Amino acid sequence: TLRVTEFISVSELANLMDVSFADVISKCMSLGIMVSINQRLDAEVIELVASEFGYDVSFIDMEQQMEMEEDEEEEDDEAALIPRSPIVTIMGHVDHGKTSLLDYIRNANVVAGEAGGITQHIGAYRVQVGNDKEITFLDTPGHEAFTAMRARGAKVTDIAVIVIAADDAVMPQTREAISHAQAAGVPMIFAINKIDKDGANPQKIYEQLSQMNILVEEWGGKYQSQELSAKQGLNVDKLLEKILLEAELLDLKANPDREATGTIIEATLDKGRGYVATLLVENGTLKAGDIIVSGQYYGRVKAMFNERNKRQDTAGPSAPAVVLGLNGAPQAGEKFKVYEEESEAKSIANRRSQILREQGMRTKKHITLDEIGRRL
Ligand code: GDP
Ligand code: MG
Repeated sequence: TLRVTEFISVSELANLMDVSFADVISKCMSLGIMVSINQRLDAEVIELVASEFGYDVSFIDMEQQMEMEEDEEEEDDEAALIPRSPIVTIMGHVDHGKTSLLDYIRNANVVAGEAGGITQHIGAYRVQVGNDKEITFLDTPGHEAFTAMRARGAKVTDIAVIVIAADDAVMPQTREAISHAQAAGVPMIFAINKIDKDGANPQKIYEQLSQMNILVEEWGGKYQSQELSAKQGLNVDKLLEKILLEAELLDLKANPDREATGTIIEATLDKGRGYVATLLVENGTLKAGDIIVSGQYYGRVKAMFNERNKRQDTAGPSAPAVVLGLNGAPQAGEKFKVYEEESEAKSIANRRSQILREQGMRTKKHITLDEIGRRL
């Protein structure tokens, strides 16, 4: 069986079947199809010609292509792995206090030596807890990024903090957040917020959670929870300790001595700076000058900044970075990977954009036929 993308060229098809392109051209001619060597063949022709040479064809799409490329990644040696900080997403119902909590943590816990630095809103930031621990928070609006990332099978988050307002109740988006985390196999910690308010009733929240089979520790279950006030900053430090405890159990590790892989958090086109991508390094170390591929885009890291807008030469495991130099804006949740050779990066990116174009054409075709059908 040949695994091909639609519209591969005559010479590519010949290569795959290990025959000369002249053989393919003459076979096409005998089937009444005139082709030249670099011409792209459509799906029916590929199938027809391949079967003449005794091959089955299966067509692959972008997802499959990227999976194949990811499978090629080498595993890390156990000895090369060192602990990395946890990456945390805060989720919950609207107005329950996600932004307040993120803002409080951002302002109160500053990475050593950077006190007074102004944190940019870049979609992720790190804070220091105690002397030597860090936590990376994803600071993406609502659930969208998390959902987008999950849709791509990316498991960016290590731990989910579910914020529930103690003066309200378990709400639809609370349930949604819980089911996202459960589906992704991400451990949850519950932040019972707004305990400063009259009418705050954490026990009522725990009861509602228990009806969903979620028992917090206080109720004899396995889930950590923390009652707090994001607005007053009350008990937020205790929440951070619980996050670190959870992280310890997860035994998170990475190998800083390899080329970086990770996930795009967001990407935009900036008037002055070109394409600007915020990404999260998951494994390896990203360096200025590295060549990145993400989705159908690639480029050399021209400059790199941290969440405090400080220029960086490197970004290690669990670090967020703002990167300039890509030739487009990959989608949030897209993986990225560093390649040694620019030519290889370019050909992978180009191959992907070709596949995407072909998928687009296929979809368009279907839509058109559909529309015609409706008009008739
Ligand atoms: P989000 O929609 O989940 O991001 O919620 P926000 O952080 O925007 O908070 C919604 C509202 O609740 C805002 O008016 C906050 O000031 C308020 N709020 C958030 N946390 C607390 C808290 O701990 N105590 C009180 N009293 N109000 C809070
Ligand atoms: Mg908000």
